[in-house]
Amino acid sequence: MVEGEDLQMQNVEIFRELIKSPGKIVITTHHKPDADALGSSLALARLLKKKGHQVQVISPTDYPDFLSWMEGNDDVLIFEGNETKSSEIVNEADLVCCLDFSSLDRLNDLGEIVAASRSKKVLIDHHLDPDDFADFTYWTTDAAATAELVYQLIAELGEDELIDRAIAECLYAGIMTDTGNFKHPNTTEHVFEVCAQLIRHGADTAHVAKLIYDSNTVNRIKFLGFALSERLTILPEYNTAYFAVSQEDLKRFNSQTGDTEGLVNYALSITGIKFAALIIDRSVMIKISFRSIGDFSVSEFSRSHFEGGGHKNAAGGKSELSLEATVSKFEKLLEKYKDQLSNHIKTYA
Ligand code: 5GP
Ligand code: MN
Repeated sequence: MVEGEDLQMQNVEIFRELIKSPGKIVITTHHKPDADALGSSLALARLLKKKGHQVQVISPTDYPDFLSWMEGNDDVLIFEGNETKSSEIVNEADLVCCLDFSSLDRLNDLGEIVAASRSKKVLIDHHLDPDDFADFTYWTTDAAATAELVYQLIAELGEDELIDRAIAECLYAGIMTDTGNFKHPNTTEHVFEVCAQLIRHGADTAHVAKLIYDSNTVNRIKFLGFALSERLTILPEYNTAYFAVSQEDLKRFNSQTGDTEGLVNYALSITGIKFAALIIDRSVMIKISFRSIGDFSVSEFSRSHFEGGGHKNAAGGKSELSLEATVSKFEKLLEKYKDQLSNHIKTYA
């Protein structure tokens, strides 16, 4: 069991009651889903289908190609472009399960439809500050991944023998990526226990790692090289490093959804750096990823200045300013946090 102070885990009997008789279930997750968001959703969908339910996974937007191997991918409905159909399905659902996000605005316009629907609602998540909208909440920031919670919920229900290789690999992918390939401090004993169980249920861990991490296009690798050599700024006085990527940069390398994922971690991997950002001009808005090491809360930073949130050491936000103005706002803000950011070993050479 995931244990800790930060728990809002209602008795699983409430969930058992919600899924007692076969019904119509929608599973949804945050926009631009990552491996944890999509893997958790598809794993739960497959399990609930095995229990006789009619299940539809709806993603607010598209997602990276390196997730398309997940079983059930072909049946995912993308809300963007299918608004009417998605809305009808949500309105007819008996139950809507919300996975890997804590606030309904992470669903874009789908959020209002979910909020207004008469269906019962379930929240399974590990992000900070959950909205209070669910009839059953299974939430703790002590979980490394939503996939870890989905496994735990299935086990608590006593349904773990329904976990087959497809479910196990979807869940494993979520845990592997949300722990940064088992590198982050959230990689607990429980994480390894769950992974051991997923292997017992058939997960081929090397295969999943290859599909997620080693399925790059040439463009993506060249973009990585370009960003590292041309778009990385290091601010030693703040132990901070950031990338600023323009629309033209994205076009030049024919950037696809997911191609920038993980880039921010290169900035954080530099010795001495404790705060990293990836600032991208996505044309409709500037999207920012934040990462930190140690006590500096990027979730608070993002919430206070960039309309975002997330976890203490991994968060995201946005800006309506231009790329240049966003970068300059970011740099100016650092002065305010200098004390928190400066006491660190400085070795950048
Ligand atoms: P990423 O930088 O990988 O997109 O996101 C890092 C973490 O922050 C993820 O857990 C993600 O769900 C969360 N996150 C990213 N963007 C936002 C945002 O705009 N608002 C909030 N509340 N969370 C975000
Ligand atoms: Mn997650």
